[in-house]
Amino acid sequence: MAGTVFVSGGSGYIAGFLIRQLVAGGWMVHTSIRDLAKESAVRASLAVDDSKLKFFAADLMSDAGWTEAMAGCSHVAHVASPLPSNAPKTDDELIVPARDGALRALKAAKAAGVKRFVMTSSMAAIAYGHGRSKSVFTEADWTDPNSPDAYAYVKSKTIAERTARDWVAAEGGEMEFVTVNPALVLGPLQSGDFSTSLEAIKKLLEGSLPGLPNFGFGVVDVRDVADMHVRCLEQPDMANERFICSGPFLMMAEVAAILREGLGPQGRKVPTRKLPDWLMRLVGRFDPVVRQVLGELGNVRDTDISHARTKLGWNPRPPEESILDTARDMIRLGIVKV
Ligand code: NAP
Repeated sequence: MAGTVFVSGGSGYIAGFLIRQLVAGGWMVHTSIRDLAKESAVRASLAVDDSKLKFFAADLMSDAGWTEAMAGCSHVAHVASPLPSNAPKTDDELIVPARDGALRALKAAKAAGVKRFVMTSSMAAIAYGHGRSKSVFTEADWTDPNSPDAYAYVKSKTIAERTARDWVAAEGGEMEFVTVNPALVLGPLQSGDFSTSLEAIKKLLEGSLPGLPNFGFGVVDVRDVADMHVRCLEQPDMANERFICSGPFLMMAEVAAILREGLGPQGRKVPTRKLPDWLMRLVGRFDPVVRQVLGELGNVRDTDISHARTKLGWNPRPPEESILDTARDMIRLGIVKV
């Protein structure tokens, strides 16, 4: 299958791997960045056939550019959404661009006659605000954005996906809508400009964490996330689908052990000591990033990915490969000194 597809946020980590897979599969790709002054740098990092890729300027916060970017496209992958490394001053800093940007992309897609719209949502829209009562999640689960566990990013992804689904139900017409809901995305790096999701590996490698907090995350490889997007774009019968995109849930202590065992001497700064929850709570009084994750302490969020396996034929690779590829590329690119 080939045609023309629009991918929002071509400068991003997931979008980069997706664009490379789409071009390799014969697609012509339109992509957006906020500022066209970055086009040549993004092109260089994508390193695909230049004639298969067109750039457009579009910001999630503005109507300008979206219609032009999607002209002639039959398919859309809406990937762009803010993913900052610091806690924002207000929740709206993330909620407004995530929600309103999705609506802008949807409206432009419908106007352009797009047949299929794939949105990158998140496990953040599925697995938060359930307390300790639940530890295995499926696509039927939704985060409660009003729960105290739902920090700004979690709210932004939940509200954006909900708003998008409501809009599609009311206004979407024939356009098929599907979401990919990834867990924490790790894997190889194409450049020194990396997604916030890789920060945990960086901190472990450089030894900047005083110990290992008692929390974890589902891990999924960026190549497998891109692959799930391609399957959602290309396979038949996707209307109103939702797919968890995750490998196993690993505690920080397990991730640290994979790094130490896989890297040998290069993993020498990875901590071994566990951080007690009381210490995290104390640090959280002063550090807003730590405060955001206090609700995570001791939580397990396993996932049932049978829907993606059965419907899409999707299978994630082992997390050891993704974790070690992240680490080796961070060392190779000089992002961390080990
Ligand atoms: P990333 O590398 O930080 O990419 C985010 C992209 O969104 C960038 O292209 C960024 O553009 C763009 N963006 C942010 N604010 C924007 C705005 N106001 N207008 C236009 N573009 C804007 O992160 P990623 O890991 O690839 O994430 C991509 C998507 O996957 C996001 O929807 C994220 O929520 C979702 N996701 C990520 C993970 C993960 O662990 N990485 C997990 C689940 C879901 P600039 O380069 O201009 O900033």
